[in-house]
Amino acid sequence: MNNSEPHQSISRCLADEAGEHALAGGADLPRIERAVREILAAVGENPDREGLQETPARVARMYAELFAGLHQDPRVHLQKFFIEKYDEIVLVRDISFNSMCEHHMLPFMGKAHIGYLPNGRVIGLSKLARVVEVVSKRPQVQERMTEEIANLLVEELDAKGVAVVIEATHSCMAIRGVRKPGSVCVTSAMKGVFRANLSSRSEVMTLIYGDTLGTRS
Ligand SMILES: [Zn+2]
Repeated sequence: MNNSEPHQSISRCLADEAGEHALAGGADLPRIERAVREILAAVGENPDREGLQETPARVARMYAELFAGLHQDPRVHLQKFFIEKYDEIVLVRDISFNSMCEHHMLPFMGKAHIGYLPNGRVIGLSKLARVVEVVSKRPQVQERMTEEIANLLVEELDAKGVAVVIEATHSCMAIRGVRKPGSVCVTSAMKGVFRANLSSRSEVMTLIYGDTLGTRS
C-alpha cells in the first residue's frame, strides 16, 4: 500500500498556500496532534513507525479545515441583501456539502436545497452556499444543521417562508453499526408560510424534487 504520497502532497500544498497559521484558523494544532498520537497508541499501533510519523500533524491540519466553521459566523454572509419587490420563491438546489457527524466523528455528505419567500430582502445566491459551508464545517447532526440554516434565514432575511431540505449519506451508517451503505437520510425544516400553508409547501417541494417525487435524475 503506497497511498501516503498523494495525501502528503495535498497537505503540503495546502500548508504552502495558506501558511500554517492561517490553516489552523483557531484550532489548537499541537493539542490535536498529541490526541491523534494517543489514539494510535490506544488502538494498538506504534505512532513512531515510519508511515505514521507525519500522521498526527496531517490529521491536525485536516481537522482544522473540517471544523473551521466553529470559528466563523454564518450571519456575516447574510448581511448584504438587496431590496427587491420579487415575491415568488427563490430556490437554490443541490448545494453540496460535507460535515462531520458529532456522534462518531465520521463524515456525512450530501446536498442541501434552500428555498425562501422574500419579504423585500433578497440575497446573492452564492451566500446561501456560504451559509451551508460554515454551518457544515462543525461537529454536526443532520437534523440540527437543517434547523440552524432555516433559522438563520428566518432571522436575518425576515423571509415570509423558509424551506430547507438536506439529503445525506452517513459513513457511520455505511462502515460500522448496521452497515447500510447507500441509504440516504432526508431532513427538512419548514418555516413561516411553508409550515402554515400546504399549497406553499407543496410548491417549494415541487421546485426541489420536480413533479414526481423520486424521479429527478
Ligand atoms: Zn454518526
